[in-house]
Amino acid sequence: MHQMTLAEIARGLADKKFSSEELTKVLLARITQLDPQLNSFISLTQELALEQAKAADARRANGESGALLGAPIAHKDLFCTLGIRTSCGSKMLDNFKAPYDATVVAKLAAAGAVTLGKTNMDEFAMGSANESSWYGAVKNPWNLEHVPGGSSGGSAAAVAARLLPAATATDTGGSIRQPAAFTNLTGLKPTYGRVSRWGMIAYASSLDQGGPLARTAEDCAILLQGMAGFDQNDSTSIDEPVPDYSASLGDSLQGLRIGVPKEYFSAGLDPRIAELIQNSIQELQKLGAVIKEISLPNMQHAIPAYYVIAPAEASSNLSRFDGVRFGHRCENPENLIDLYKRSRGEGFGTEVQRRIMVGAYALSAGYYDAYYLKAQKIRRLVKSDFMAAFNEVDIILGPTTPNPAWKLGAKNSDPVAAYLEDVYTITANLAGLPGLSMPAGFVDGLPVGVQLLAPYFQEGRLLNVAHQYQLHTDWHTRTPQGF
Ligand code: GLN
Repeated sequence: MHQMTLAEIARGLADKKFSSEELTKVLLARITQLDPQLNSFISLTQELALEQAKAADARRANGESGALLGAPIAHKDLFCTLGIRTSCGSKMLDNFKAPYDATVVAKLAAAGAVTLGKTNMDEFAMGSANESSWYGAVKNPWNLEHVPGGSSGGSAAAVAARLLPAATATDTGGSIRQPAAFTNLTGLKPTYGRVSRWGMIAYASSLDQGGPLARTAEDCAILLQGMAGFDQNDSTSIDEPVPDYSASLGDSLQGLRIGVPKEYFSAGLDPRIAELIQNSIQELQKLGAVIKEISLPNMQHAIPAYYVIAPAEASSNLSRFDGVRFGHRCENPENLIDLYKRSRGEGFGTEVQRRIMVGAYALSAGYYDAYYLKAQKIRRLVKSDFMAAFNEVDIILGPTTPNPAWKLGAKNSDPVAAYLEDVYTITANLAGLPGLSMPAGFVDGLPVGVQLLAPYFQEGRLLNVAHQYQLHTDWHTRTPQGF
């Protein structure tokens, strides 16, 4: 039962082969049995899940239908869930029970999805390895000595290990696509503004975007359908009609123009990954796509720009965690300053503190022009590169990451080494563009992802290309041993 995709579950439920309650019990038992190896969940929500599953079964018995009605999912632990701990992977929020549901959570619940729990993540979504969580590192089901990617590593490891078919995630600089690549999943970061950020605990507000992690493009289409849409509670939400993502999955790729940036194949890319990317290009050519070399000349500046802008926004967003209103508070403060200092010092981990300091520095009076303003100018150049490229091609293709998943702890002493791994993903966040990662093969038994980028609001095109690719390849069907 646990091998089923969302699409298969929807068919099984519609055909009355099993109930949502039965499936939910099977998956909860599987999580209890197998998750101690992975640490992919921070909280399990058994009672809520069984209640939602029974309600979904009752709705189906009353003649209702829907791809998500009775479908088990989990939420990354930065989506606020009413009355349930929403920790953001931090000691700071270990005692925080959200007083409301995030829009994404509410929309999926209304569609009948069943919440099995809240998944582990890098603290405040800062990281690429899921090692900065206060709840401990998450392990990669493909090799338990390796990281699953971050910051949505809990969602990724859980779905890859078949603990559940799909989960929500967020992507500020790659945190949906990179863990998807590292665990053999399909993950989609939508256009900025496509999915509401209301109730999604902010890291870098101008970059953060929620999206689906699943095994197939078909399942990403189903989950995104439930997440996307205008929300008046989010001032950056865009009032653009949501297309039927499943309807365009079958479109032909004949004549599709795929751009391959020459900058992507530089010295930093593992040659074995380069070869797998070439194979995926050939596969898409067989399906009728036309390949064109393009250039993204400002790509080399994207990492330094991102690692100024994201910490700058984080330093502002995280100032609300002061030990006064909610979250961790130190014992016996001597005065207000002592309360702030010790609460924040105890509540935040090393990486979060580093980012707050970098961000506050970049925004400070004497340095604003030199760092923050400069980074914003680079951001505009990165966007212009994409706009020029999309005049010539329909999608852009390349690797999701320069290397496969590294060993746990391998980059802990050198944060910049981890930052450099974001080279292919962060440009889409800087420009606000949608991007998808899909399985493209293995290196030393570890999965490799190919990334597709598209113009604004062309999520349907990304899902269509990925689905057609998945109809003709079987990488996405491979299961990690032991799961
Ligand atoms: N690795 C990036 C960072 O640490 C991206 C994280 C994310 O997308 N949430 O900022």
